[in-house]
Amino acid sequence: MSYVGPDFEPPRPPRHPLRGPLTVAVAALVPGALVGWLVWQTVGDSGGDAQASPSSTSSSWGRPATPGASDDGKEQPGGTGAGEKPNGSPSASAPTGSGPLKGKVVVIDPGHNPGNFQHTSEINQQVNIGTNSKECDTTGTATNDGYTEAKFTLDVARRMRTVLEKQGATVKFTQDGDRSWGPCVDERAEIGNKADADAVVSIHADGAGAGNRGFHVILPGSVHSGAADTRPIVASSRELGERVAGSFLRVTGSAPSNYIGGGTGLDVRKDLGGLNLSTVPKVFIECGNMRDSKDAAQLTSSAWRQKAAQGISEGIVSFLHG
Ligand code: ZN
Repeated sequence: MSYVGPDFEPPRPPRHPLRGPLTVAVAALVPGALVGWLVWQTVGDSGGDAQASPSSTSSSWGRPATPGASDDGKEQPGGTGAGEKPNGSPSASAPTGSGPLKGKVVVIDPGHNPGNFQHTSEINQQVNIGTNSKECDTTGTATNDGYTEAKFTLDVARRMRTVLEKQGATVKFTQDGDRSWGPCVDERAEIGNKADADAVVSIHADGAGAGNRGFHVILPGSVHSGAADTRPIVASSRELGERVAGSFLRVTGSAPSNYIGGGTGLDVRKDLGGLNLSTVPKVFIECGNMRDSKDAAQLTSSAWRQKAAQGISEGIVSFLHG
């Protein structure tokens, strides 16, 4: 139900003519999302727990943080100590293009790092996320067959970069498989902040129990503590998240999570350093549950990952044109 809230306004006509395959998709984004939502409302309420009811009127926006069900519940901001820089550097790509997103900066944060498994001491170091200290980063999860979340997030992020650069956006990554571990979550936030990004999306897949299915987008709660002050970005991040959730649902056909968010596909958290320390609009997306065999079949499919990348990207485009 959240998709039809007051913040979910139809996009205004683009300021520039859209070219390429996103033209129709963007024009149809909101109606498509609503159609998808209505279809889900009609057929989707099966097999879940009480929270899975898509007709629930409860809003996830006001829920307290719910660490635990997600692998990222353990995810903590990672501020390394003073000036400590793991090898490698954020990779910027393509200079600003000439498409409708010319001048827009999108930062994509591929969650975790394939090398984190070999650098446990580094990623376990504590960093300050404003509200408290947490681990620098985590290894992320994996499917039962060993396809890691870190590989998944990099693949989806690279597919997104292709889509968004075709629209003229300047796309930057927090890591591009070009460093041996990390970055820490505080550095991930800092990269978006320093880029003065118009939108930041952190890509993840969850590690919940079998039977838990579907995607959810994590929005920053209002936090004002220490170095964390999300108050200026709560509303814009919610709009970004709703756009991403709506287009992800429409393009992938995946249902909103049946275990988090009360069927809305949205969750609000105050315990993630990558969100707490952001000064620009930012959301996380958990694209599915790697520990569920049906979700895993999708997550390990390159064709499905292309749809996921397209859906997330179209949500970003819609947000930037809104
Ligand atoms: Zn993750």
